[in-house]
Amino acid sequence: MDWARQIHIKSPAEIALMRAAGRINAMALAAVRELINPGITTADLNAAAEEVLRKYGAYSPFKNYGSPPYPASITVSINEQLVHGIPGKRKLREGDIVSVDCGAVVEGYIGDAAFTVGVGEISAQAKMLLEVTEKVLYVAIDQMRAGNRTGDVSATIQQFVEGRGFHVTREYTGHGVGRQMHEGPQVPNYGKPATGILLQPGMTIALEPMVLVGTHRTRVLSDQWTVVSTDGALTAHFEHSVAVTAGEPLILTE
Ligand code: MG
Ligand code: MG
Repeated sequence: MDWARQIHIKSPAEIALMRAAGRINAMALAAVRELINPGITTADLNAAAEEVLRKYGAYSPFKNYGSPPYPASITVSINEQLVHGIPGKRKLREGDIVSVDCGAVVEGYIGDAAFTVGVGEISAQAKMLLEVTEKVLYVAIDQMRAGNRTGDVSATIQQFVEGRGFHVTREYTGHGVGRQMHEGPQVPNYGKPATGILLQPGMTIALEPMVLVGTHRTRVLSDQWTVVSTDGALTAHFEHSVAVTAGEPLILTE
């Protein structure tokens, strides 16, 4: 049994803790966003996020995650890098688009969110990619309603993105989130309506559309973490952790 894939329905008290984690995560991401300018290194961005997390008594679940152990608290993925870029000495340049993914743990509960932003002036294509990827996240969140199925969310993402001429990743998916960074259910960025797991109040899911300009195909670099588009074309990623309720979906990471 893959216990990490299990679905854990959260109580209102647990959702409140996830919201606390999500808010601290949002503050860490905001601090990073403010620093994004030509010349800053991706290690500087990681340090800024860590400072905010520390200040609020939180830490990132990314650090030491997986194998080989992930060495930082955020991921910074530039241009053709879709996700999981490792912060380091690389400096951002005018015209880059940069994706930052951060997690925060508060009293054992996790917030997980990501955004992509341009560095200075970016191309028209890059602007369109960012607009579509951010918009589809909110269109997908709106599908996070009791009675819908995960396939309804997945299909919404795929149709929206492909309808605008872009591609969705196949290998990396949205996921339940809570005491574990990756719980059930999985929510792929592609799928068929009326299939998959029935959404119920108390489910908490990190939705994360990952959109590619030229192809859905990806590969992992020799650092064993950084995921890039195989054609070298631009990619983008937005993510929020969201709770299904009896009414409107509740974004936990704002
Ligand atoms: Mg994330
Ligand atoms: Mg995630």
